[in-house]
Amino acid sequence: MSQTEIPSAAPGRGYQRYQSEIDAAIAAVLESGQYVLGAACHRFEQAFATYLGVAGVVGTASGTDALELALRSLRIGSGDEVLIPALTASATATAVVRTGAIPVLVDIDPLSYTIDPDHVSRAISGDTKAIIPVHLYGQPSTMGPLVSIARQHGLLIVEDCAQSHGARIGDLYTGSFGDIAAFSFYPTKNLPALGDGGCVASNNRALLATVRQYGWEERQISTESGMNSRLDDLQAAILEVRLSHLDQDNGRRRQLATVYANRLSGTDLTLPGDCDGTHVYHQFSVTHPSRDKLRARLSAAGVGTGLLYPRPLHEQPAFETCRRVPDDLPVATRISREVLCLPIYPELLDEEADRVIAATLDLL
Ligand SMILES: *Cc1c(COP(=O)(O)O)cnc(C)c1O
Repeated sequence: MSQTEIPSAAPGRGYQRYQSEIDAAIAAVLESGQYVLGAACHRFEQAFATYLGVAGVVGTASGTDALELALRSLRIGSGDEVLIPALTASATATAVVRTGAIPVLVDIDPLSYTIDPDHVSRAISGDTKAIIPVHLYGQPSTMGPLVSIARQHGLLIVEDCAQSHGARIGDLYTGSFGDIAAFSFYPTKNLPALGDGGCVASNNRALLATVRQYGWEERQISTESGMNSRLDDLQAAILEVRLSHLDQDNGRRRQLATVYANRLSGTDLTLPGDCDGTHVYHQFSVTHPSRDKLRARLSAAGVGTGLLYPRPLHEQPAFETCRRVPDDLPVATRISREVLCLPIYPELLDEEADRVIAATLDLL
């Protein structure tokens, strides 16, 4: 039985789906003669700010840069502690380290897989300056409690929205709750470029004005060493096309998630937990005690799966000496061993979802 593989991510399918619009947008930039900080970049920044309901957006070269620039704009640096979840992309921790600040690894909630507010409260020290909630897998973090804790202790909030474009709590989009937010437009994200890209978003215009300064106060006069990180116009033009389809694409992800959840319920898989807001299913994450066996067998049946993330930060050499709360990070550790992400993207066909479900049920 040789069937074509169902990949765990398929960014090329998104391009094919919107090919005529994307090709036209690229051609227009090529002809415009403006390739960096041109009209397409400004149009996209404006359109995404309007979509999110924030005062402004500034494009960056990647999501990791966006996180670093967001932290730098808040003057977070040497000696400061930043609370982050122990289960996230290593980029979240890397961005903190690059500013000179120290990541503190906090355990996640066993149902939402996002940073646990109770542990956040316990983790605060005299050096703590900020919290980075990561809206992991497209599920909003529990922002209500986190915002109150931040207010009470005078902490800043930098949202990591690399997986949550379009996710909401009530009418408010992720990226509009904190002091500043960082997005990635890596090709597999919900709002994808065809290359690297990212942005910061905020309601604080003064803060945004400092993001793209390269350390200049006055043009070409550096008052400190800055950073060159820009979203180029080709990517911005592609993103403008994709933004106009984001809600529809997220709708398809949610529809596929409902099909998975209905047909995989009642098995010994743990399905994504209830969430405060509108989950946009960047990933459809399930857990199973024999995850590695299940993954190998799905692979043999032609179903690709993803591991986000196979190692929590405290088990990675770069971050293993970070302070942890609690010390053994039991939930992040267990989820990293048990989590498996099934294929979910707007272009996944109904019959492919059926095959994923059939193959999974067959093995349980
Ligand atoms: C993708 C991702 C990033 C980094 O984005 P890049 O554009 O790849 O630099 C940061 N945080 C999370 C949670 C991510 O998923």
